[in-house]
Amino acid sequence: EASASAGLTAGKRLTVLSGPSGVGKSTVVAELRRAHPEVWLSVSVTTRKPRPGETHGVEYFFADDDEFDRLAASGELLEWAEFAGNRYGTPRGPVLAKLAAGVPTVLEIDLQGARQVRATMPEALLVFLAPPTWQELEKRLRGRGTEPEDVIARRLAAGRIEMAAEQEFDVTLVNTSVQDVCHRLIALMADAPEAPRPG
Ligand code: 5GP
Repeated sequence: EASASAGLTAGKRLTVLSGPSGVGKSTVVAELRRAHPEVWLSVSVTTRKPRPGETHGVEYFFADDDEFDRLAASGELLEWAEFAGNRYGTPRGPVLAKLAAGVPTVLEIDLQGARQVRATMPEALLVFLAPPTWQELEKRLRGRGTEPEDVIARRLAAGRIEMAAEQEFDVTLVNTSVQDVCHRLIALMADAPEAPRPG
């Protein structure tokens, strides 16, 4: 079956980037998109409303609740989770197609999603992005200035739980600078045993 063989032959090329909301995952992903076009970034489906500057099909596919229900019920999502009142999921087909084609693939997802991928694709490399300090995380979440206080509070609460999950991950990268994190992430992906090695 296609999905099983994709997982076995190219699973190491699947990297999951997770970590608390506000840690800078989307900034890292934006830098990866800019500097590493050879890496494919999965585009998630979400029921969250677009933020200013977000484009349908680039950061997310924006869907309503009915559409999300349909995708989840028909098994079209590799994983999905509810986060701070909205649902987010990874379309299964494109990920399996990229892995089958040998394309290094990154999922930027929350902790619940990372756990699901761990269970269904155990070969995936799980990378935890950590803030330099907890205070820094809180500052970044508030500094974004796009969410009302109750939403920030929910995200901070979720973040505290997510910080405790660090030990479930294969690797922790501390987000000191976005270029540095990208550099180390690319090095980790290149190190995966199943990936072809130069020489
Ligand atoms: P945001 O609303 O800030 O873009 O994302 C909120 C959280 O949802 C982040 O932690 C982000 O990593 C996570 N997220 C984004 N896409 C997915 C997805 O497809 N699945 C899961 N489980 N989480 C996701």
